[in-house]
Amino acid sequence: MKYIFGVDLGGTTVKMGLFNESGEVLEKWEIKTVKDNNGSQILPDIAASINKKVAEKNLIKEDVIGVGIGAPGPIDDDGNIYGAPNLGWGTFNVSKTLSDLTGFKVKTGNDANVAALGEMWMGGGKGYNSIVMVTLGTGVGGGVIIDGKIVAGAKGAGGEIGHIFMDENETETCGCGKKGCLEQYGSATGVVRLAKRRLEKDDKPSILRNKDINCKVVWDAVKEGDEVAIDIANEFGKILGRGLGIIACVVNPQAFVIGGGVSKAGTIILDYIVDNFKETTFRGCKDTDFKLATLGNDAGIYGAAKLVID
Ligand SMILES: [Zn+2]
Repeated sequence: MKYIFGVDLGGTTVKMGLFNESGEVLEKWEIKTVKDNNGSQILPDIAASINKKVAEKNLIKEDVIGVGIGAPGPIDDDGNIYGAPNLGWGTFNVSKTLSDLTGFKVKTGNDANVAALGEMWMGGGKGYNSIVMVTLGTGVGGGVIIDGKIVAGAKGAGGEIGHIFMDENETETCGCGKKGCLEQYGSATGVVRLAKRRLEKDDKPSILRNKDINCKVVWDAVKEGDEVAIDIANEFGKILGRGLGIIACVVNPQAFVIGGGVSKAGTIILDYIVDNFKETTFRGCKDTDFKLATLGNDAGIYGAAKLVID
């Protein structure tokens, strides 16, 4: 049996997994992300943790195919990262550095793209080889996999679907500095924004009034048939459906796999997205499947492991 390490490097923790070739996770653990001194300790800490696990499991070097790592930032196919401000990192080659520290082959990818690969390998996208993963969290992230390969683009910005321009009448500013980005409507914070706007528009009765509004509260109200909440869901679905309709015209995936906090509301979110998608996309893309992600926070370690097998 051969083994692979999958590493998901985040701003506060590093998630790690030991996998076998068939994609079973044998062990999962976490270490802290120490960002002092421009994050210079991060890769040595990861290497030490991997080497410790190798010793603990009595693995020999030949048993290990390699180490895959997903990191937050634009990363090219050779493993160069072009700056990761929330780790304190500048531009350097992550794969080479971690390979020198561990002695194993290392493959590196952008965290969102790597999570998409994980969902396609062992999650909601299993069985497909061309998917677009859409992560509706605090922001909106994406990962594009076509014919089994991550589409990272020239500077690693491929899949930054959250910043597709959707609305020229938007007055509030997105985290990226523009106004009217997809993420301003499709993220968990976007749903809350849409909810507040709808509630301020008139005084139609709603169970959402006088409640602390968060994404879950809104979708719970939709499930109860609250008309104001349904208006909010329609607006969410309209913008997201149109946005994904545009993406489908560019890369024509077999399926969209929807994950992130907003997707915890369940398949009801797809009801609002899919009709708008079909209405606005090109006819050749209308039969694109929609699936919910299933791996949650583990998608990153799965995808990282898969990077090395490919
Ligand atoms: Zn933006």
